[in-house]
Amino acid sequence: MLDFTLTPEQIKLQQKARRFALQEVLPVVWYYDQKDDIPMPVIRKAFDAGIMNIDIPKAYGGTGLGLIETAIVTEEIAAACPGLATSIFDSSLGMEPILLSKNETAKQKYLPAIAKAFKLTAFATSEPTMGSDVAGLRCKATQDGDDYILNGTKYWITNGGVADYVSVFATIDPKAQHAGICAFVVETDWEGVTIGRTIPKMGQRCSNTVGLNFKNVRVPKENILAPPGKGFVLAMQTFARTRPIIGSFGVGAARAAMEYALDYAKKRRAFGMALHNYQAVQFKLAEMYQKVETSRLLTWKSAWESDQGLDATISASIAKFYATETALEVADEALQIFGGYGYTKMFPIEKLLRDIRLLRIYEGTSEVQRIVVAGHLMNSYQPSMPPLEDLPLHREFDPLDEQAPQADRKAWRCRICGHVHYGDEAPEACPYCFFPASAFKQV
Ligand SMILES: Cc1cc2nc3c(=O)[nH]c(=O)nc-3n(C[C@H](O)[C@H](O)[C@H](O)COP(=O)(O)OP(=O)(O)OC[C@H]3O[C@@H](n4cnc5c(N)ncnc54)[C@H](O)[C@@H]3O)c2cc1C
Repeated sequence: MLDFTLTPEQIKLQQKARRFALQEVLPVVWYYDQKDDIPMPVIRKAFDAGIMNIDIPKAYGGTGLGLIETAIVTEEIAAACPGLATSIFDSSLGMEPILLSKNETAKQKYLPAIAKAFKLTAFATSEPTMGSDVAGLRCKATQDGDDYILNGTKYWITNGGVADYVSVFATIDPKAQHAGICAFVVETDWEGVTIGRTIPKMGQRCSNTVGLNFKNVRVPKENILAPPGKGFVLAMQTFARTRPIIGSFGVGAARAAMEYALDYAKKRRAFGMALHNYQAVQFKLAEMYQKVETSRLLTWKSAWESDQGLDATISASIAKFYATETALEVADEALQIFGGYGYTKMFPIEKLLRDIRLLRIYEGTSEVQRIVVAGHLMNSYQPSMPPLEDLPLHREFDPLDEQAPQADRKAWRCRICGHVHYGDEAPEACPYCFFPASAFKQV
């Protein structure tokens, strides 16, 4: 069964998130963007409104909704402010390794607190010297009895300055690469945790980004989310569930840019009529709409796969890089429709463009997503078409004509140039590319 209809509950949730975005987010974000600060009162309101961490299962005190619902909510918030959407969704990113871990003690302790007590959670794989190459992280975890001692620095940590908990990925031996990586949930008020200064950014200034330093931080064994050798997989499983939502950031932000451009095009006049009368402008808007719609489909498909318990790794990468790249294109075209005003801070496009630019970088750059998808194509993709060398590709006679002279003769296909030869044997040499008989395969 294939159905794109939202349920009445999903529509209600979408309307609630849209109301929240328009009434609580939109009025404050330019001020906080200018100030380069995270609007904590709005984050608190989002929690009170029940639109944060909505996929925590009921068994752990959550609402038990799925990634589809998270995608629906995130699109609405991102339309009002991608930076604030990052701040709100980051708590899900930080929570996900706890949810996916096999550590029931940590789940029982932390998930209800995140669901019910407004405890924010951050996610930390990146470091000052690495981001894409997760297996190359250096933050050191040294075993001490049952505990681990953490030493090192995590960088670019969204919500790191305001979070209560952090899912930290470390290694017992940097040289061991994947085999050394482990993960822990760390409380930010533990001894030895230092929060760095807020990193000044080009966009998404309504989200908090800092470095976190760990100096001899003792992590009890109850807080191990993944033992050495299992941490890398846990990080990748986390991304498979969170990357579709980065796609939703793109969908929401691009939709807002398109709607602003549509409104502007109807009002702005040039050469005697409103811009929207010009087909060149209409075509831009049509393409923007096409990109928003296709991005949403990819994003929802991937979220749906995850909700079905399927491995969404590939669809998540596709959704992430498609939706975030097209969002940037949409915002850029929107700015073009606005002309000079688009380039000013008095209209919303310049902030959207700055905010969207980050989407291609965090949670795996566009290049990393291409590496993931290309790896799938090279190693595990199952084609349905026959290999080229088995293609009959008869062009010289009608295969349906039983009387055709070649019909009962063997067909040989040159593996180099594709020429099909009819006869009992392959020709001595291909008449097109001159390769010898060994280049021919019977088809
Ligand atoms: C505002 C912000 C918030 C963030 N929030 C978090 C967070 O909460 N938690 C967290 O852990 N991290 C976070 N990050 C880090 C983010 O995930 C990394 O910046 C990202 O993964 C890229 O890593 P890097 O910056 O080290 O770039 P690098 O890995 O050094 O890459 C630099 C460039 O080289 C390209 N490249 C790298 N390897 C290859 C390759 N093999 N083939 C082709 N191209 C390649 C990359 O795509 C990129 O274009 C955040 C980053 C920013 C900017």
